[in-house]
Amino acid sequence: MHSIDPFFQKGEGKERYEAYLTCFIREQYMKVLPYRTYAEVNLQQLKENTRKVRALLSKDTKLLAVLKADGYGHGAVRIAKAIEDMSDWFAVASFYEARELRDQGITTPILVFGFLDDSNIEEAAQKNITCSALSYSYALHIAELCEQKKLRLSMHIKLDTGFHRLGIACEEERITEAYKEVRTLYELPQLQITGIYTHFSTAGSKALQDEAFLARQYQLFCDMLHRLEEDHIDPGIRHCCNSKATLTNPEMHLDMVRVGLYLYGLGSDADIEYLKLEPIVNWKARIYAIRDVKQGEGIGYGRTFITPQPMRIAVVSLGFADGYSRCLYASDQVYVLVHGKRTRILGKICMDVMMVDITDIPDVRVNDTITVLGSEGTQRISANLLGRETGGTAVEVTCGMGKRVQRVYVHDEGNC
Ligand SMILES: *Cc1c(COP(=O)(O)O)cnc(C)c1O
Repeated sequence: MHSIDPFFQKGEGKERYEAYLTCFIREQYMKVLPYRTYAEVNLQQLKENTRKVRALLSKDTKLLAVLKADGYGHGAVRIAKAIEDMSDWFAVASFYEARELRDQGITTPILVFGFLDDSNIEEAAQKNITCSALSYSYALHIAELCEQKKLRLSMHIKLDTGFHRLGIACEEERITEAYKEVRTLYELPQLQITGIYTHFSTAGSKALQDEAFLARQYQLFCDMLHRLEEDHIDPGIRHCCNSKATLTNPEMHLDMVRVGLYLYGLGSDADIEYLKLEPIVNWKARIYAIRDVKQGEGIGYGRTFITPQPMRIAVVSLGFADGYSRCLYASDQVYVLVHGKRTRILGKICMDVMMVDITDIPDVRVNDTITVLGSEGTQRISANLLGRETGGTAVEVTCGMGKRVQRVYVHDEGNC
């Protein structure tokens, strides 16, 4: 039984394989991929999801596609390029993510949700990156830096209407004070305030107190907008909805919605079904080795799994260091797909490999790929399942796909 990946043995380079990829149709290139584990991202499906989200919006409402955390793990640059024509804005969490998009030729407006270091302000202004006024003192500080460097920076003001994370605090008790701060920022010549936004903490919850809280947050936001209107200040782009609120509260869309999850086909099972979204990633790994093991043998660290009968196992080139959560081995709900059939993980997941049962799956060969997230044939493993079984959420699964998981992009009828 040979266990060494013949592609790695031959030392084939990534570039060579990318060249291969361009001339193979989907079924064929699956067989030649050299990666031990890879995430196949379907850009066609991404566009389809984006179209479906756009269909929820009136023609005057802009779409901001959220690309933080490397496009929720799918690869921000390729995602941005694929939906550039369908998105009015992009958003990321940090200056560096925004710069990466600009350096790759993305010219769409970009909003940074997070703080910027002083040392990045100049480049942000030059690269037309829009920043967030996340507190009054921070915005004044940025204005001072702009004054010193003779720059003008585009910003959106963030209001904290109850999430209590970031933004100018707008509780009822200090709303007059908060409004003064907001107005001052609009009037500062060093800052070009082109928008204003807030973020909901209970979007989509059906619990009465949560619905009331959302309504209260929206009310506070509208109160500020109303005051600006009375003072004849153009607020710029007004936005507050994430994916969930975009679906449940169309009356709150205002000028723009900020959608992440739905573009990637993520969200609650009910939302995905209702909107007819599809996940855009299949996470795969290759079989390194195949072993026949006698009855009564332990598999892996701690011998937590003892073979109840003679078994055939596949050693798969994917481990917890690739971001596949180690705790999933203990779940009786989680499975992997080998030749389109469900099968289970045996023993503890190691750093770089895991073992799976192929006793009842015929003709499995070394270098075959297995699927740990996404679909194969009629079977599907959802990010919601893996998220739930790790005690987290679907988006943690896609964001967690590690550095060694090569992103491979497919689009247009399966051509790569
Ligand atoms: C992440 C994020 C969003 C997108 O939320 P989804 O639930 O993924 O649609 C919107 N707004 C802000 C401020 C965010 O941080």
